[in-house]
Amino acid sequence: MALLQIFEPGESTAPHQHRLAVGIDLGTTNSLVATVQSGTAVVLRDAANRPLLPSVVRYDASGVAAVGYAAREWITRDPQNTIASAKRFMGRGIADVARYGTLPYAFVDAPGMVRIQTAAGVKSPVEISAEILRALRAQAEAALGGDLVGAVITVPAYFDEAQRQATKDAANAAGLHVLRLLNEPTAAAVAYGLDNRAAGVFAIFDLGGGTFDISVLRLSKGVFEVLATNGDATLGGDDFDQAIVRFWRERYNFAAAGLQDAAALLVAARRAKESLTNEPTAQAQIALSMGQQLAVKLSREEFVTISQALVDKTIAPVKRALRDAKLGVAEIDGVVMVGGATRMPHVQEAVAKFFKQTPLNNLDPDQVVAIGAAIQANQLAGNKRGDDLLLLDVIALSLGIETMGGLSEKVIPRNSTIPTARAQEFTTFKDGQTAMALHIVQGERELVVDNRSLAKFELRGIPPMVAGAARIEVTFQVDADGLLAVSATEKTSGVRAEIIVKPSYGLSDEETAAMLRSGFSHANEDKQARALAELIVEGKRLIESINAAIAADGATMLNDADRDVIAMAVEVLESRLSGQDQQQIKAAIEALSNATEDFAAKRMDASVAQALRGKNLNSLVL
Ligand code: ADP
Ligand code: MG
Repeated sequence: MALLQIFEPGESTAPHQHRLAVGIDLGTTNSLVATVQSGTAVVLRDAANRPLLPSVVRYDASGVAAVGYAAREWITRDPQNTIASAKRFMGRGIADVARYGTLPYAFVDAPGMVRIQTAAGVKSPVEISAEILRALRAQAEAALGGDLVGAVITVPAYFDEAQRQATKDAANAAGLHVLRLLNEPTAAAVAYGLDNRAAGVFAIFDLGGGTFDISVLRLSKGVFEVLATNGDATLGGDDFDQAIVRFWRERYNFAAAGLQDAAALLVAARRAKESLTNEPTAQAQIALSMGQQLAVKLSREEFVTISQALVDKTIAPVKRALRDAKLGVAEIDGVVMVGGATRMPHVQEAVAKFFKQTPLNNLDPDQVVAIGAAIQANQLAGNKRGDDLLLLDVIALSLGIETMGGLSEKVIPRNSTIPTARAQEFTTFKDGQTAMALHIVQGERELVVDNRSLAKFELRGIPPMVAGAARIEVTFQVDADGLLAVSATEKTSGVRAEIIVKPSYGLSDEETAAMLRSGFSHANEDKQARALAELIVEGKRLIESINAAIAADGATMLNDADRDVIAMAVEVLESRLSGQDQQQIKAAIEALSNATEDFAAKRMDASVAQALRGKNLNSLVL
């Protein structure tokens, strides 16, 4: 998608006017909240000074029992009611979720998105995510001592419309005003200040708790474009923990039984893995349920041996992403490391070896996404100087459709956050019209000729109806990649047509800016032009319908004198329609309407009589 650069008007705000805005990394494993304080982005910590909040919610009969660390304790002890990684279920159906393998949850099929049966009732992934967001909001408000004006929330670059909408719904449910949904890799790039560089192609390597994502971004003059994304939805830090547990089982041959022991082993394995990032060896005492005290050890060499295969598994998706982006390793200007699991030295080494360069890793990989989101939030909340660049997941120019009179009817206004979908209804202009040409335009001006033409297509096979009876619903949908899909459906018959358009294609920054400026400076002139064009359409429509009426009933309902009066009025209107005088056109429309009043009344009576013929009064009483 193209993230478009705009300039926010206004000077920097005085400190007392500072509006509290946060960036939130709503992660699969861990979530964070960050903000900009005195010009620096910082992660806000909880009461116990911890930066991360495990993305886990536990329910009991009374409702939400715990969120975060306290909930995580229960993952293996009360698996059905302790929901981890709810992000994977956002906007997904039961068939999607089945693909993740066996999970301990009682999934319930529901339209749109799966639900989970818990002790507190059936919960949707949106509600579960909302609990995490509510906890982060409370953490932020406690740390900042005030109400938040809004939040930028990050989502994986590959998240679709449904997943993004679900994330937004969760934020709203948590009482957060969403300033924007931002792609995680873009947020990471912003945190590294890559938006200040002139140009370049960057790879964002994100190894989290349960997922691996690789994104290739092209950056030019502050515009980010996701060229390709790839990954492995079943590869993350958790797999390394399991590899350690397997290794210990083989080496120590102990009798571990039940979920509780499994939990204790996994916790010890995670700690060992994390400490090996800085220490050559790790050891732990694990209390097993049979009363046994188990002493375990692991060296870094052993760890590398048992987990190198997992590290190597990241390379295939990286290669696929590069192939999709049609780029070689040598064309990558920088690699950004994201996700707690990229701290492991052998991951760093593998990435350095593959890309033949040292990855960017001087920021905390857990925190980069939240930091980038906070920087964005601060700008969107208006806390920055006017000359700061903004990176927006928005459409920079309005998308519309040509309507009668060469007017552009805006369907999606500029600056709408994407993805988005809007529908509008149109109708036919002529009696018996069986096809409709749809012309999609982009730009701020009222007249089509002043905007940019994106695509034309036709809806055919509309059943013949009188003018204005067809109900054609045109839907514009801009997806996460900035692709516009337009579909048109005639609702009484179900006839359908669609086209896919690339709205940002071929428009340079300068062109975008010029089109915006022209939209503002011509606003008044455009208003006049619109009013005139609308009047012309009205006039033409009137003539069209009168001609049709005369053809149908003129011979039986009009005498020669009536017909002459109407013909004269039509002629006057026709001649004025080619002029530019709004008053004159208005007057002629009125004169024609008056001249046809009696005729219209007669036709109305006739059609009512026709409708009533053969029916008795009872059948008309409703
Ligand atoms: P997500 O994006 O899925 O929410 P994170 O980016 O928070 O996840 O990554 C969590 C993973 O990072 C966990 O598997 C955790 O054990 C691992 N991790 C965190 N710190 C370290 C460390 N120092 N060394 C190795 N792995 C780590
Ligand atoms: Mg993450």
